[in-house]
Amino acid sequence: FPDCTSPATWTEAHHIIPWQAGGETSVENGCLLCSHHHTLLHTSDWSIQLINGTPWFTPPWIIDHTQTPRRNTYHHGLTPQQHP
Ligand SMILES: [Zn+2]
Repeated sequence: FPDCTSPATWTEAHHIIPWQAGGETSVENGCLLCSHHHTLLHTSDWSIQLINGTPWFTPPWIIDHTQTPRRNTYHHGLTPQQHP
């Protein structure tokens, strides 16, 4: 999650497309989140999009009216810092 510093060993696997909605359990549909941010994802309107293996998080309108996707820059992903 953007600005989260929890190490991977403290994370839980999150289904980007919910399992109940037909989302498969796979790396292509998965994202690692700490317990706090995992709960936040399930109780708010943040959304996640995987771009070249890196999760980008779109905030709900009430948090950011531009709804600009953002990523975690503490943990370096597979893509450049700039949203494509
Ligand atoms: Zn977190």
